[in-house]
Amino acid sequence: MDMKPRKIAILGATGSVGQSTLALVRDLNVAASGHAHEGPISVEVLTANQDVTGLADLARGFRPERVVIADEAKLGDLETLLAGSGVDVAAGASALREAGAGEADWVMAAIVGAAGLAPTMEAVKRGRTVALANKECLVSAGAIFLDQVKRAGATLLPVDSEHNAIYQVFDFDRPEAVEKITLTASGGPFRTWSKAEIVHATPAQAVAHPNWSMGAKISVDSATLMNKGLELIEAAYLFPVEPDQIDIVIHPQSVVHSFVAYRDGSVLAQMGSPDMRVPIAYTLAWPDRMDAAVKRLDLASLGTISFEAPDHDRFPALGLARGALQSGGAAPTILNAANEVAVAEFLAGRMGFHEIVRIVEETISFMGQNEGIGTGSPTSLEDVLCIDRAAREWALKRSGEVAAA
Ligand code: NAD
Ligand code: MG
Repeated sequence: MDMKPRKIAILGATGSVGQSTLALVRDLNVAASGHAHEGPISVEVLTANQDVTGLADLARGFRPERVVIADEAKLGDLETLLAGSGVDVAAGASALREAGAGEADWVMAAIVGAAGLAPTMEAVKRGRTVALANKECLVSAGAIFLDQVKRAGATLLPVDSEHNAIYQVFDFDRPEAVEKITLTASGGPFRTWSKAEIVHATPAQAVAHPNWSMGAKISVDSATLMNKGLELIEAAYLFPVEPDQIDIVIHPQSVVHSFVAYRDGSVLAQMGSPDMRVPIAYTLAWPDRMDAAVKRLDLASLGTISFEAPDHDRFPALGLARGALQSGGAAPTILNAANEVAVAEFLAGRMGFHEIVRIVEETISFMGQNEGIGTGSPTSLEDVLCIDRAAREWALKRSGEVAAA
């Protein structure tokens, strides 16, 4: 297993994608040296939001130079846990930004939500190789983010399984040869539920994804299909195709991760077990390939795979996201911010499942009718953050009214 040595940073190390990334690092290093902290991959920095115990455990295993906890109130706890370990400890928003601005040549952006935007941008500005799991970054700040990627000469590698699949089979030298791309969607836990049943879905039911084990927010997004809506916008930014060249198909087994259809009728797909270590390994070894101890796809035992059209009536998030993509301007930023708020309110038990998309729709429409609170096209990161803040405020207020009604 010949892996070129690299120094890495993981933003959001304690999360589902962060831990999958570290599982690959552990395998690579242990194969080379017998230790997780020694080998081709050295870890510069790991970050987390509030989970000091999880972060300290990772720090002891991987011995990074520094760990950063976003929540400043947890700094003392983290210092106590890592006393005498030789690992630097820092906390707060500016330390989080600096975590993206370090020496690492490969940065995993695996914070959930627009909270990951500022530190990820720092890595982009320094021209690093950025493995992007944090799709909300692109949805919220797409044009500005990509402009910075271009100016800084950064390498952006998509980690989201669908986009990683397309990245692997898209002919970037001949984009005009591509007719369309098709994102696959599992359909989530409510794929076969009626509209009336979906109304009463609980947080526990919404986070129980049939194929993937993921963080709570993306699990709820998968249940509303907003995740696929966010991915539609993500794909429109990542690949040189028009919005009407991006299709979505439901594929409950989640083994075909997406398709690229060419003008001559050929359709190329990337397949694999539903395990995020596959796309993460692709980005970690890129442009080479590495060994990854993931379950091999066994087609004969899989037997049948199936596809169906998405139902826009039961899952209105898809249409809403497509509308936001077509409107452009601030709409995707507002969609993402309102969705983050509504999902959090649902997970906290304060609002019904079906109200998530309603809040997003009402926030987009309210902000669209009220010029001046940030509805113009954002032209800087500050603009994006300002629109994001205004949308969050309104969505939270509206969620309160809906919950009280
Ligand atoms: P998660 O909730 O498991 O982990 C999120 C990580 O971000 C944690 O380390 C957490 O501490 C940190 N974090 C959360 N809020 C933060 C804040 N305000 N400031 C700083 N750090 C914060 O989420 P996940 O499932 O690993 O997903 C991470 C990102 O990857 C998301 O954008 C998600 O859409 C994307 N993604 C995840 C998967 C998956 O299989 N989990 C697949 C594709 C894409
Ligand atoms: Mg995905």
